[in-house]
Amino acid sequence: MLWGISQAQEKPKLVVGIVVDQMRYDYVYRFWNQFGDNGFKKLVNEGYFLRNTHYNYTPTYTGPGHASIFTGTTPSVHGIIGNNWYNKADGLSVYCAGDGNSTTVCDCDNHIDVESTAGKMSPHRMLTTTFSDELKLFSPQSKVFGISIKDRGAILPAGHTANGAFWMGKSGEWISSSYYYEQLPEWLIEFQQKKPATSYFKGAWKGRGFGYPMDSLLASKGPASVKSTPQGNTYLKDLAIELIKSEELGKDNITDVLTLSFSSTDYIGHQFGPHAQELIDTYIKLDKDIAEILKHINSTVGQENALIFLTADHGVVSVPNELKAKKIPAGYFDASNLTTELNNHLSKRYGNNTWVLKYSNQQFFLNRKLIEEQKLSHQEVQQLAADYLIGVEGVQYTFTAHQLHHNEYQNSFYSLIQKGFNQKRSGDVVIALNSGWIEWNSPTGTTHGSCFSYDTHVPLLFWGKGIQQGVFDEYISICDIAPTVSTLLGISFPNGCTGQPIRSITE
Ligand SMILES: [Zn+2]
Repeated sequence: MLWGISQAQEKPKLVVGIVVDQMRYDYVYRFWNQFGDNGFKKLVNEGYFLRNTHYNYTPTYTGPGHASIFTGTTPSVHGIIGNNWYNKADGLSVYCAGDGNSTTVCDCDNHIDVESTAGKMSPHRMLTTTFSDELKLFSPQSKVFGISIKDRGAILPAGHTANGAFWMGKSGEWISSSYYYEQLPEWLIEFQQKKPATSYFKGAWKGRGFGYPMDSLLASKGPASVKSTPQGNTYLKDLAIELIKSEELGKDNITDVLTLSFSSTDYIGHQFGPHAQELIDTYIKLDKDIAEILKHINSTVGQENALIFLTADHGVVSVPNELKAKKIPAGYFDASNLTTELNNHLSKRYGNNTWVLKYSNQQFFLNRKLIEEQKLSHQEVQQLAADYLIGVEGVQYTFTAHQLHHNEYQNSFYSLIQKGFNQKRSGDVVIALNSGWIEWNSPTGTTHGSCFSYDTHVPLLFWGKGIQQGVFDEYISICDIAPTVSTLLGISFPNGCTGQPIRSITE
């Protein structure tokens, strides 16, 4: 397609980036017959379905996932290496969206709550721009908002220059940070007075073989527990529609962006696993919420003026005990004594001391200061640790920082480890577990984070302005989404972008 002036003027009025937390690729087809015609099926039947889209790094966690979708690069570049990580500089744990210099903005006295940490948040640890940051540099009047029950699901996608981001506080209320606002917008205060979280606890959450009375959940766990039911997604959907109306997104010809991340799928997925009836019911209900969002966009902005994409921040593995029962290799990795054991091993060689400072996100942080004081080689100590760890049951690979600094891996799982490894922030020895293995103490729940396809393979759907109907089965990296949107908007790629535009969409 030739990019003439007339086409350059015809940009979408509204871009909506939807993330479904923990949605695996196969859910689109597993639940297909239970979906209605106007949600996921509409996106597939009218949109472009990229069926071979993968995370190209590990750890496949929520913070890194949201950052990667919207910055078009990996933790090695954007720096979000986990949800939390050990900060080498001061020995403290940091949170990916935490910001001690900000305060919580809420519907409360004086509009701020200096005590609460729930809103002490910002994207400042994310080192590169999102596509919406580049849009703001291109057209400052563009409006950009991010919403999610999880703070990181709202903040990282919306980028550094967003007008606002909203997430759920400890009492089920929508809050923000002084990074964005001095006080919450009036429409949001009105919205939550009209629709507080408590109004979503009606009747029971029931499905095949289960039933949970919502009032007893509210009584025992409080209003924020809405997030662990499908109603959490419905609450976010209602907020999304209110935000589009009140902030007048997509009203004029200057492109606006809304990012929304549905978190209840993740809370429920961790608790019950991908094969539970609770999980299936959650997706059937999410399908209806997505249908309502599409309907609202269609009737206000118009499908022909909107660009929507839907993906996930990572997948999840089947409950390992369920895999084992089906004779598929799986297991539970117990790291509780591993730091001590590794330290003992290093002490045998180098003398009794604190050689291992921390184990975090399947990385060991060694005592670099001590290694230097004792005039030892980092490379040698790291290698001794790695050689020990490869002997531990459940460990499939080990990597040393030295190895990752001095080689460049293009293929295989090695490259996924390297792209998730940030030279400045990551540890000295990285381990990767066998497929089907998790580090999780619940016998019935499950988790994600690995380099295997159950965690990396996610759905990717584009729908709306200029998007043809079709499917595409060549490999797509999660980092390709942002430059694809940038190309469709005619703007610069995010500044750390390592992905490529998906040509079957942009050309
Ligand atoms: Zn997640």
